[in-house]
Amino acid sequence: MRGVVQGVGFRPFVYSSANRRSLTGRVLNNGVGVLIDVQGEPAEIDQFGAELEANPPPLSIIESIERLDHLAPVDYRDFQILESDATGAKLVPVSADVATCDECVNELFDARNRRYRYPFINCTNCGPRFTITESVPYDRRNTTMRMFAMCEECRHEYDEPLNRRFHAEPIACARCGPQLRLLDREGREVAGDPLSLARDLLQRGKILAIKGIGGFHLACDALSSKTVADLRSRKVREDKPFALMANSLSVIRRYARVSDEEAALLQSPAHPIVLLQKKDKSSVPETVAPGVNSLGVMLPYSPLHYLLLENSNKPLVMTSGNVSDEPICYHDDDAGQRLSRIADYFLFHDRNIHVRTDDSVVRLHDGREMILRRSRGYAPAPIRTAFDFARPILACGAELKNTFCFARDHTAFVSHHIGDLENLETLSSFTEGIEHYRRLFAIDPEVVAYDLHPEYLSTKYALALGNIEEKIAVQHHHAHVASCMTDNQIDGEVIGVAFDGLGYGLDGKMWGGEFFVADFCQAERMAHLAYVPLPGGVQAIREPWRLAAVYLERTFGQAFLDLGLEFNRRLDVRKWSALRRMMTAGLNCPQTSSMGRLFDAVAGLLCVREAVNYEGQAAIELEGIATRLSHPAYEFKVEAGEIYAEAVIRSAVENLLDGTPASEIAARFHLGVAELIVKVATQIRQERHLNRVVLSGGVFQNMLLLHKVCQLLRESEFAVFTHSRVPANDGGISLGQAAVANACVQRGRYN
Ligand code: ZN
Ligand code: ZN
Ligand code: FE
Repeated sequence: MRGVVQGVGFRPFVYSSANRRSLTGRVLNNGVGVLIDVQGEPAEIDQFGAELEANPPPLSIIESIERLDHLAPVDYRDFQILESDATGAKLVPVSADVATCDECVNELFDARNRRYRYPFINCTNCGPRFTITESVPYDRRNTTMRMFAMCEECRHEYDEPLNRRFHAEPIACARCGPQLRLLDREGREVAGDPLSLARDLLQRGKILAIKGIGGFHLACDALSSKTVADLRSRKVREDKPFALMANSLSVIRRYARVSDEEAALLQSPAHPIVLLQKKDKSSVPETVAPGVNSLGVMLPYSPLHYLLLENSNKPLVMTSGNVSDEPICYHDDDAGQRLSRIADYFLFHDRNIHVRTDDSVVRLHDGREMILRRSRGYAPAPIRTAFDFARPILACGAELKNTFCFARDHTAFVSHHIGDLENLETLSSFTEGIEHYRRLFAIDPEVVAYDLHPEYLSTKYALALGNIEEKIAVQHHHAHVASCMTDNQIDGEVIGVAFDGLGYGLDGKMWGGEFFVADFCQAERMAHLAYVPLPGGVQAIREPWRLAAVYLERTFGQAFLDLGLEFNRRLDVRKWSALRRMMTAGLNCPQTSSMGRLFDAVAGLLCVREAVNYEGQAAIELEGIATRLSHPAYEFKVEAGEIYAEAVIRSAVENLLDGTPASEIAARFHLGVAELIVKVATQIRQERHLNRVVLSGGVFQNMLLLHKVCQLLRESEFAVFTHSRVPANDGGISLGQAAVANACVQRGRYN
């Protein structure tokens, strides 16, 4: 019997199951999968096989089982677990990191246990995996734990098949395993117990850099607005929300609403950050998550976290250990340098992190998990596809929120969140990450897929790759739609709606408000927002007021300058005149059909946000003030495949002038966008007899819009598909690229 499974507690499970049935034989991990050789009564063997299929160990994923009967008998006296053998294709997928299990938590706080209060306790069912793995097969010698020689007791547990730490590769105890150290910002070790010192310092309002599973966190008391504000200014992070960690659901419930389904997400093996609805009278300071109505919270997921938060009824800020938008630190030296101006103290440990992973971010939508950032605890778990990849593919992803993806057979390995490919360090995470995955999953790509945008660093990487037969450029929004189709395991023609910030279009313009009739092979553009200029290019993204002025001038001509709005009072007319001259001359003013930019324009018009400090901030804050949807919706005009927003802007201005509150205007705008989608989808349905609508792109992280549009589409009897396993934002692009490239290869049609 041979099965491809993830290496989590599988062999001990096989061992005890075989022993219970008096079967003899062998089990080993041979790099292709788990190989089980059993001998005994046929009925017992059948039951043994049935149990493997029906009740495998909690964290294992069985990819496939192959069974060969009536082999020549071997003189087995017992059942044994054999050492892994490194021959054969290295196909056993490395598991994602798993949050500390209940049994380990119990031992952690059990004074009689030999690992009592040991911050690196783990077992076969929990602990770091992917982040410590250097190569395959997944064995201690191929992890960063190989520096620690096991003590006799650990070795005994590791070797004992019925022990719950049998072959737990990161097994350790206080005698033989990793240790903590506390240093001040000058790098001097602080004498005393690092853990109680750290707890004490946090209590006293200090900011600590804490080494975790996939990198460093910056931690501080979340209830002290002064400390949180300090952290913001030192980190040069004006507004982007901070995540919190609290030691129990009951603490979290003081600050946010938690449904049963959300509680299940918080407690899942990945222990992600879950975005929850902030309570109205939440006592978390506004500086934790300014201008947004959600709160990102997680539960402790490593023993160190449990110890730091023990008996604490206060949440900690646990934000990524980086400056501004840089990638998070994961090496001690690097953290000591880069974070020295932010952290007052450093809590280090000597277990090296091999792969940097951020905390994953999820939320609940329609009763299912919707991943916004897929990283620790999820990557590199395989994503099953409904189709087969004809040839091994590497898809390089987009520029922002980059992920890449290796795919073969019916499996896609979407990488952990790499980040924005705009500095050297992220770029090297990208290139090194690709090499690492290539080795871990033994995939040698024959096809490489990349974004059409010529300036993306991921595109340049793809074009420079040698030894690849086929290179396929995939239009950004086609990739979004294909990603959502793959996420939902559907194929065939669909109505694809891709609303996002910006993506390179087939006509060289910046798309982002697109309706398609699409399948994996092609995407026919059916309708899009009418083009407007982006005055100053990228700078227009940082300053939403520019888009507001562009749309106002579209609607009212020069007369918009005399509308007498708050917007007019704030407008720097000289700056605007300079931009107008640029637009007339066509200088640095790319044309865009982006829906994300229209959200910016409305936020700018309402003076919610004139300049942003992080991507999507204006739209997020616009959603934040539109507490509930109200009628009448603003109406877009759709003519010959072009969508015009002038009437929307005109209504919003009229409402501003008649004193309608901004919250109401924001709400009518959201409702207008939802109704626009239904209207255009209905037209396409009449023409093409398609009934499935696929929603993708970063704009669909707007929950107010997403809930409403799903509801309206279902009322109109559409089948609606949204993202779950990969993000709707550009983090999902690589999966879509792989699906499109595969379809092109299969149909022999290459761009
Ligand atoms: Zn455990
Ligand atoms: Zn030990
Ligand atoms: Fe996008």
